[in-house]
Amino acid sequence: MPANSFAATENAVLAAGGTPVFCDIDPVTFCMDPSELEACITLKTKCILPVHLYGKLPDMEGIAKIADKYGIPIIEDACQSIGVSDLGKNSLCSILSFNPYKNLGTCGKAGAIVTDDPSFASACMEYMYHGFELNQKNKKAADYGFNAKIDNLQAAIGLARMKHLSLNNLKRLYLADRYITHLQQYEDRGLIQLPQMTDDHVWHLFTIKMISGNRDQVKDMMLKFHNVQTDIYYPILSHHQNTPLVKADYQHISLPVTESVHKQMLQLPLYPGLTVEEQDKVMEALIDVVS
Ligand SMILES: *Cc1c(COP(=O)(O)O)cnc(C)c1O
Repeated sequence: MPANSFAATENAVLAAGGTPVFCDIDPVTFCMDPSELEACITLKTKCILPVHLYGKLPDMEGIAKIADKYGIPIIEDACQSIGVSDLGKNSLCSILSFNPYKNLGTCGKAGAIVTDDPSFASACMEYMYHGFELNQKNKKAADYGFNAKIDNLQAAIGLARMKHLSLNNLKRLYLADRYITHLQQYEDRGLIQLPQMTDDHVWHLFTIKMISGNRDQVKDMMLKFHNVQTDIYYPILSHHQNTPLVKADYQHISLPVTESVHKQMLQLPLYPGLTVEEQDKVMEALIDVVS
């Protein structure tokens, strides 16, 4: 798994009794780099866990080639990429989050496991409700399970909002395309690097890299002089957290690309309700600060 994800990704591995092994990323997509993956695999590897960070699919064909070679299943952290084409094509399952700020959000805590494997689906449904056998009242089939169904109220909200997912993803795409078109000349001048417009992206976040100039200074100045807030997802890499586990096992790990990209990247505002006038204000602020 990559080390630049939300903590939920590594926490899921730890909760299952596993040990996260961090794989370096591609500097352009911010996602797992298949050419770094093989070196991470050991006899104990149980699954490959790519994260479709910011809404972009990693090189799933490249990852699947290695997964097939070693017979290891792929579990996709698709919490930021609902709506992207080919989700689940190469994996045992895709994990979705319906947190309010995701591309499809409820008003509370919710998520889903998506799979086309019927026996895996049954096992998930047993774990989801106390390990009970499906359609049998209080009769356990699994040793243990959770009480992890989506709350009915959140499910109702999610079903209603699902109708708007495609349009909202289209609005995100429109805004991303607009950023890329309008900021292209600043990339050409070597000031910033823009994300690539590809057809495997649902633009959960819009991430640029500062090529010249200090990222933290740019962030501060955009706020101070233009009242435009930007952000960093995520501010602390998994192997740099200040926890007993990291201190014991991870603090000397080196992930050169993950670490260098982490110092450069900045997320600009992007969400379906952002108006083009507001987006223009963001771009004016960025352009003023970087030039
Ligand atoms: C949001 C998110 C999660 C976790 O989602 P929750 O619903 O908050 O548990 C996991 N991975 C990634 C990449 C996310 O963005």
